[in-house]
Amino acid sequence: MTLFDKILAKEIPANVAFEDETVLAFHDISPAAPVHVLVIPKHKWMRFADLAIADPKQIGEYMSAVARVAKHLGLEESGYRIVFNNGRDGQQTVDYIHAHILGGRRLSWPPG
Ligand code: AMP
Repeated sequence: MTLFDKILAKEIPANVAFEDETVLAFHDISPAAPVHVLVIPKHKWMRFADLAIADPKQIGEYMSAVARVAKHLGLEESGYRIVFNNGRDGQQTVDYIHAHILGGRRLSWPPG
């Protein structure tokens, strides 16, 4: 069980930003931007790489929900960045797939 399994099971509290039948979105505990929300699917994948063999319909529902969360956060007009850290070099620290939604300021590029 990862930390995000426990947050999804409400065993560990989180500052929930949005929830529907597909996803749970909560504010990152250590925000890297004025808006920093993590979106996890209720159907668990461990990492982005798992999507290579996942049901495209389920992936689509997840991606659509991530876009809905960004809209719900009021970021649609100003823009935002979606990040999936994957594996060791991607600095993924929690083995439960999560989209980072980052916004509220002009983000630099390229990332470090
Ligand atoms: P990653 O490095 O892509 O695996 O992202 C994990 C993210 O989870 C980091 O940005 C952490 O700040 C965040 N995080 C860790 N613990 C918590 C928590 N209890 N509630 C919300 N976010 C967390």
